[in-house]
Amino acid sequence: MKTEVVRIDPARVSGAAERQAIARAGEILRQGGLVAFPTETVYGLGGDAFDADAARKIYAAKGRPSDNPLIVHIARREDLERVADGIPEQAEILAARFWPGPLTMILPRKPEVPRETTGGLDTVAVRFPSHPVARELIAAGGGFIAAPSANASGRPSPTLAAHCIEDLNGRVEMIIDGGEVGIGVESSIVDLTDPSGIPTILRPGYITAEMLAGILGQVRTDPGLIGREVRPKAPGMKYRHYAPAGRLSLYRGEGDAVDRILRDAVIKMAEGKKVGVIAADETAGRYEGRGFLVYPIGSRQHGEEIAHNLFRVLRQCDADGVEEILSETFYEGTLGEALMNRLEKASGHTIIDS
Ligand code: AMP
Ligand code: MG
Repeated sequence: MKTEVVRIDPARVSGAAERQAIARAGEILRQGGLVAFPTETVYGLGGDAFDADAARKIYAAKGRPSDNPLIVHIARREDLERVADGIPEQAEILAARFWPGPLTMILPRKPEVPRETTGGLDTVAVRFPSHPVARELIAAGGGFIAAPSANASGRPSPTLAAHCIEDLNGRVEMIIDGGEVGIGVESSIVDLTDPSGIPTILRPGYITAEMLAGILGQVRTDPGLIGREVRPKAPGMKYRHYAPAGRLSLYRGEGDAVDRILRDAVIKMAEGKKVGVIAADETAGRYEGRGFLVYPIGSRQHGEEIAHNLFRVLRQCDADGVEEILSETFYEGTLGEALMNRLEKASGHTIIDS
């Protein structure tokens, strides 16, 4: 298959050429094809959410296990009722406050949504994104677009169209290049179907536990997120994710981590490995001039910068052929939890305390 790449400036979605491109992309979706597109979190790989075949194509294009459900994207708040049943008041409250935006809600599934889309589950994940290109595309494609992240399964999520091209060229009909995404980590996922009635965070993101608790009162974080042994609730939690090809190790512990990284980098280089170090802007200078690659990822003063750069830096390590990636850890700030959740998974939970 030939993949068409079209550039759409998010600031100009109502221009004539842009409208034409979006209409063509919408037509592809309506006919059961796949389109990768930018959202405010990461790039998504979209197909018609009501079309079981489109869902199968998404799994095939990504190489994703078919029990790992897709998120249904809508472009109007009132469309939630078309895919979800028995919508609790909590969902109305969250939608009013955070939609459109980077929040996904798990709700009981309407029977019209094929099980292929929900990975066989009786619940459905729904999000109303704020990105102008995403909103126009969803509407043009019929209003209900199933979309996981537009990466090959297991690889770091795409934050640039170039990442989608790298992973999906020849496997999808179209890739819409809307430039670099803003947030850089996937949406927060909150499960509203727990019998206890307590909203449960299945994936941390830009919308934090504190923000959710501030509005709903009680929320909890799924134990599967913290330990590794618990049976995961979001099927996606059980698979290795976001991982670069090189071996990633995370170094925890204040200033000491820098010394430990420096020591280990030297050892690994002596073993003949190509080494890369991921560091905050504040400490990046301490690693320079020692024969390994250094990837400054952003300032600790601005956690959103680090989140924004995370997946791009992991992919750059791959492009540079790095075999051993040693990374500082970044737990601070409102995005710290989301960021470290991705990094810990990418490392297969290889965390070294110094
Ligand atoms: P991705 O779009 O690649 O971020 O993948 C979607 C994420 O949403 C995966 O981690 C899924 O496991 C999760 N997800 C989608 N639908 C459900 C659902 N019905 N219940 C729990 N998790 C879900
Ligand atoms: Mg993903």
